[in-house]
Amino acid sequence: MFKIDLQKAYDTVEWTFVRQLLDALNFPSEFKTMIIQCITSATYSLSVNGEMFGYFQDDVLLFSKGDAKSMMLLLQAFSTFSKATGLEGVIKRIEAVCRNFLWDNSADYRRIPLVGWDTICRSKDEGGLGIKDQENWNKAMVGRLVDWIAVNRDSIWVHWIHNNYLKGQDWMGYKPSMNSSWVWRRICKIKDEMVPGYTNGKWHVQPDGYTPARSYEWFRGSRPKVNWYKVVWNGWVIPKHQFMGWLVAHAALNTTSKLVGFGVEIEDTCCICALAEETSEHLFCECEYSKRVVREVNNMTSWSYPESGVLEWCMQRTGTKLQKGIQNAMMLSLIYQVWHQRNKCRNEKFMLCPERVAKHIIEEMRARVRGRDKMQLNLADLEWLKKMHLLE
Ligand SMILES: [Zn+2]
Repeated sequence: MFKIDLQKAYDTVEWTFVRQLLDALNFPSEFKTMIIQCITSATYSLSVNGEMFGYFQDDVLLFSKGDAKSMMLLLQAFSTFSKATGLEGVIKRIEAVCRNFLWDNSADYRRIPLVGWDTICRSKDEGGLGIKDQENWNKAMVGRLVDWIAVNRDSIWVHWIHNNYLKGQDWMGYKPSMNSSWVWRRICKIKDEMVPGYTNGKWHVQPDGYTPARSYEWFRGSRPKVNWYKVVWNGWVIPKHQFMGWLVAHAALNTTSKLVGFGVEIEDTCCICALAEETSEHLFCECEYSKRVVREVNNMTSWSYPESGVLEWCMQRTGTKLQKGIQNAMMLSLIYQVWHQRNKCRNEKFMLCPERVAKHIIEEMRARVRGRDKMQLNLADLEWLKKMHLLE
């Protein structure tokens, strides 16, 4: 007979995750059902030889053959289970999968990422992609348990904690003993981080109490806003262009001059014009190819030319929200197209002429304008769109 402490699995991991894990570890189905029932229902009892037994939430009793082999197998399975529900390793793995997926659409990308994970996890207005970092997100989730203990929530688990660990001690100042479980020590450590957020036992950071979503922001801490985020994350820009603009803002495109800077032995001149070093600045502003694209766009619309960096040009746009949005979207489209043509030129020794690229940028924008409800537009914007030849 085994008595298992299910404290680790209770309230600290997702049920679906536990279920998948039990499947993956090939536990017998009756065992899986029992575990899931134990951790999801508030109370439960077992029937042994027709008699009902009540059991406490954190315990489960298992019966197995008494031979050494069966026991070893069970113990091995529990140790794997407890390591996996120990979360830390799982979080690191999940994060690695997310990271790799972003750069390669696959779980095992092994090259150096273009932008650091720390930057990616910032909010969009702070220059990131707004992806949640798993470590702080996990803290915010575990923080909910910390808060339950603080407000003495009516739950079996909280009662159990108070009776077995706190025993009347002040939760804010509580220190766990060294031999308490890993999960309990982890909860206490997160509690220590949260102490400044409490006044008289109440979570003062959010007026209506603790929520993981908003407390995540608190754990993460905020950073200064970047000045270009409205250029990139505006509704007129299509997502793949947004991503490209975001890379340019972080100077993250692997232009040849950047690769040479990393020590890669490669010809660093612009493969399109062969007249200058290939930097983002050259490719999108100075290169004769981009200039011709802009001139062509200019023939059909009425566009001025970026003399400084492209994102600076975007930030200097004037006019209504729509007018700024459209000019930004067209410039980011240009960046995307030029980079795409540059790759074609490099890999296939073939590229489209500037006229075709310009036509493509304009047609793409016309299609987006057509998709908008004209009734929603004001007169000034309609006039402007006409002048830009974007209503055709
Ligand atoms: Zn060039």
